[in-house]
Amino acid sequence: MFRMDTQSCADESMHTIYDDEVFQMACEQFRVIADYLNIDKNDREWATYPKRAVAVTLPVHMDDGSTRAFQGYRVQHHIALGPTKGGTRFAPSLSMGETAALAMWMSWKCALAQLPYGGAKGGVAIDPTKLSRTELEAVSRRYMQEMIPFVGPHTDIMGPDMGTNEQIMAWFMDTYSVYMGYAVNEIVTGKPVAIGGTEGRREATGRGVVYLVERAMNMLKMDPEKCTAIVQGFGNVGSVAALSLAYKSGVKVVGISDAYAAIYNPKGIDVKAAEQHMIKKGNLRAFDQGDRVEPGEFLTLPCDILAPCAVDRVITGKNAGQLKCRILAEGANGPTTPDADLVLDQRWDEVFVIPDILCNAGGVIVSYFEWVQGLQAFLWSESEVTDKLFRILEHSFAQVIRRAKDHKVSHRTAAMAIGVERVIKAKQVRGLFP
Ligand code: NAD
Repeated sequence: MFRMDTQSCADESMHTIYDDEVFQMACEQFRVIADYLNIDKNDREWATYPKRAVAVTLPVHMDDGSTRAFQGYRVQHHIALGPTKGGTRFAPSLSMGETAALAMWMSWKCALAQLPYGGAKGGVAIDPTKLSRTELEAVSRRYMQEMIPFVGPHTDIMGPDMGTNEQIMAWFMDTYSVYMGYAVNEIVTGKPVAIGGTEGRREATGRGVVYLVERAMNMLKMDPEKCTAIVQGFGNVGSVAALSLAYKSGVKVVGISDAYAAIYNPKGIDVKAAEQHMIKKGNLRAFDQGDRVEPGEFLTLPCDILAPCAVDRVITGKNAGQLKCRILAEGANGPTTPDADLVLDQRWDEVFVIPDILCNAGGVIVSYFEWVQGLQAFLWSESEVTDKLFRILEHSFAQVIRRAKDHKVSHRTAAMAIGVERVIKAKQVRGLFP
């Protein structure tokens, strides 16, 4: 398995606004690829650091009469292939460095799927579950208002991510449109269908995860009816993935979790009941269909398919050796650290990794369809959208598997290398403006 440590991706003595553990992780992953691809040292910093980053302060009147000032970010990684595209995350620990890491991953993801975008990411350092609807709307609108000079349908297109949803995208679209004086649907993706959203966008990421899991099961000659799955995270990605695994693929889901509870039941969990519970209660805290397990223990329980669909850095050098799954399907962004990759590289014939930039690409692929539909005023049915989605995922999956086999590298190295090569090539062909 290829691993080398020769040139760093960036000057380590350089301190930047991106200094942060998640950004370091994204840099380390890039360095492995840059070594493997023999990328010239002169091109490394250029490919790593974002093209542009904006930090904004969002003063908001709270329901209790106080005024709070929240921090918002937007990072645009590169514009070599087209406008930038990326989700908006509302999470209390969000930092500029984490936003930059997510933007970088988005670049490799878009390039792997051959979408005409550079990566972007943004968000607000806030816990959306602690805000009333009025406060959430105020934060969302203020964030978009502050971003108006930096985004646009041909410069940077936002979408949903952790802590945001269709309603927040609708507020973004409305705020931008009111400012422009006409309806600009194509400024955001992941909108409600009622205002130009695409049928199937909400489900696209989770459905994509399961399409790829089915491909892997097929390759490994695993019978879905005899397989079990554990899904971490029960939000947009995790809930759709768990539902599709249970009711479309016929896999027995034995574990689900969210930020409040991890539940395991070797006899199988009624995922539809969990979804209904979620709609009523908003979290899994009181869902009583199984045993409570420690979050740390949850990921190492026996299963055939493990799908981390929540936060980054949950599979580490410490627990990677204890994973008991046959397929690791990375629905979340950055769930596996480079230390864990070293362990998983050794276990390549035990754990089949579907790396994040491939596994969760369904969201941005259908976002691309939504953007095109907005620009062209097209309308496609849900089955047309899903069919096109699966075709792109199939192509990407086949390319990654072939590259990994031919070059004897991990699936992550293969996937990232394909994305990085395309971005570097576009940058080189366009040239460096003097
Ligand atoms: P979401 O906000 O809808 O759901 C997140 C879920 O994770 C919630 O159930 C939350 O309770 C749970 N969670 C949070 N912290 C946790 C923890 N420490 N342990 C267990 N569960 C925890 O977010 P989402 O849109 O489903 O995104 C989840 C992941 O997928 C993120 O990494 C995101 O970047 C990635 N992703 C999302 C999309 C998309 O289209 N929404 C696309 C690509 C990648």
